[in-house]
Formats: sequence, C-alpha cells, structure tokens
Amino acid sequence: MSRSAVWKHIVALRAAGYGIEAKSGRGYRLEGLTGSPVPEEVVPLLTTQAFGRSFIYLETVDSTNLKARSLAREGAVEGTVVVADSQTGGRGRMRRSWVSPSGVNLYCSIVLRPPVPSFRVPEVPLVAAAAIHGALESECPEFTAHIKWPNDIVAGGRKLCGILCEMESEPDFTHFVVVGFGLNVNLDPVPDELQGIASSIAIESGRTASRARLLAAVLNRFEELYLEWIRQPDLGFLLPRLEGHAWLKGKELRIEQFDKILTGTEAGLSRQGQLLLRAEDGTLTAVSSGEAHLRSINNETRPS
Ligand code: ATP
Repeated sequence: MSRSAVWKHIVALRAAGYGIEAKSGRGYRLEGLTGSPVPEEVVPLLTTQAFGRSFIYLETVDSTNLKARSLAREGAVEGTVVVADSQTGGRGRMRRSWVSPSGVNLYCSIVLRPPVPSFRVPEVPLVAAAAIHGALESECPEFTAHIKWPNDIVAGGRKLCGILCEMESEPDFTHFVVVGFGLNVNLDPVPDELQGIASSIAIESGRTASRARLLAAVLNRFEELYLEWIRQPDLGFLLPRLEGHAWLKGKELRIEQFDKILTGTEAGLSRQGQLLLRAEDGTLTAVSSGEAHLRSINNETRPS
C-alpha cells in the first residue's frame, strides 16, 4: 500500500473520532476505540452464531425497523442487524415518535424468522426485554434497571429503552419479526420534551458507556435467550427475570386498551407474557396488550 493510501485511511479514522499517534520513521498507533456501534468495534465482541453476523451500519436512517423490514422482505437472513447512529423518524408503538439524536444512543433492529406458531410471536418483546435487562445488569452494575411490561426498560420509572416488535405473517406462517430497540446510553442531559419521562445509562451511572460493548452484550444475550425460547413451549423459563425485575410489580394499575379501561393490582405474568391484573373482587384478568398507567393513592392517573 502506498504512503498516500495509508494517509487517506488515517485521515478517515481521525475524522471518525479515533485517536492515532504518529511517530516519524516508525508509523502510526491506534490509541483506543471510540465505542461507536460500528461493525469494526461490535463484531469482534460477538459470541453469537447468527445475531450480528450480517451487520448493516448507517450514519442516519428514517427508522432502523423500517430498514430491517425492507431487508427482511428481500430475504435478509435471521440475525441480520441494522444499526444507525441517528434516526430521522424513530418510532415507538402506535406511531409515537422516538427521539433519536446522533452520537449518544443505540438504535438497532434485528431480523428474526422464529420457527414457532404465530400465536407465540407476542412473547418476543419480553424475550428482548429480558436480554436487554440482563445485558444492562452485567455491563452497568452501578444502577438497577427494571422491566416495564410490555416493552420498556426503566430506571427509577424513567425510560431507558423502548422495544418495538413488528411482524409480517400469513394466518399460519410468520414471514419475519423485526425487533427494534432504542437505548439511551450517553444521552445527557435529556432533551426538554423528555424531561421526567426518559433517562440514560450516563445519567444513572455517572459515566459514559461504550455503545459497541453494550450492543454486543445485548446481541450475545438475546441470541442465547431466543434459542432457548424456541426450544421451550412458552415464556415460563424467563418468568423469574421478568417478574423478579418488574417495575409494575404489585402496583395499582389502570390499563388503557383500545376499547376499555381496566383497573386492579399487578399480580405477575402468565407463561404467555400476559399481565395478570387482580380486580378488587379478587378476579384475575390476563391482559395481552395495552398501555399501563400507575394509579396513585388519590386515584389520579399519571404515566408510569
Ligand atoms: P408509554 O410512553 O406510555 O410508556 P409506550 O411504552 O408504548 O408508552 P412507546 O410508544 O414505545 O411508548 O415509545 C414512545 C414514547 O416514548 C414517546 O411518546 C415518548 O414519551 C417516549 N420517548 C420518545 N423518545 C424517547 C427516548 N429517546 N427515550 C425515552 N423515551 C422516549
């Protein structure tokens, strides 16, 4: 390689934030990694067979879920990962927007082709939640995160991570499931519109974290749990984590669904991942989806 070709790479790496020491007559030395979620930093940390082995990294994208869905339609293999440094149209459930600034957070979507009957697909967000929670526990032991049914990870009730699963299927056949998550890593401060709603790993732990390490930890754990989930008949094997770290555990809830509002006390999860709600008369209802809101003692509702 010519000197000028080497120099071009050095310039590009420096522009990407890598510190490179130069010594005349000796050469260049990489001073360290940036922690960006680029394949060069993430893939060497993977212990997976499939997750992240096909890795698409984009500086910016409308939504990693949209990109992953279009790749899945074109035949992307299971475990294909789409990661972006920023999203211009990041989404939560029901088309709510997901605030996605560049350089600080993780925005990632994974293509799955689960060989299970489609009635089990609603269990997937909880498998993802258990994986992300487990990765946070090992990578960020300084603080405690909780799983907020059905699709969030919170710290002190503030959202650290949102999970969005989307599927394409026929009545008897699941073509693919895309599991997307947005994880606030080094976001600090929280933007005005998310004050009181969101937090980040940096805010909770008081230090910045490597997005590359976190992403690898999530992918490693997610593949492990996903493969086990396929072997199992239901989510029973994950209930100790899902219930043991549940943010809503034992709380008075008001569940808003499309057509009705349910109230009661959280009484755990079913093996299919439904939230069990105990009404005042003692009857139990299994809730499959909806929005959970805490009911405070004076009966006002406030978002949990
Ligand atoms: P809820 O907001 O009641 O928990 P939800 O879990 O269904 O509902 P989603 O639809 O998954 O929420 O996510 C969208 C919501 O998350 C937005 O309405 C906003 O309140 C919040 N939000 C948006 N961007 C972020 C972010 N980067 N970090 C944390 N929360 C965010």
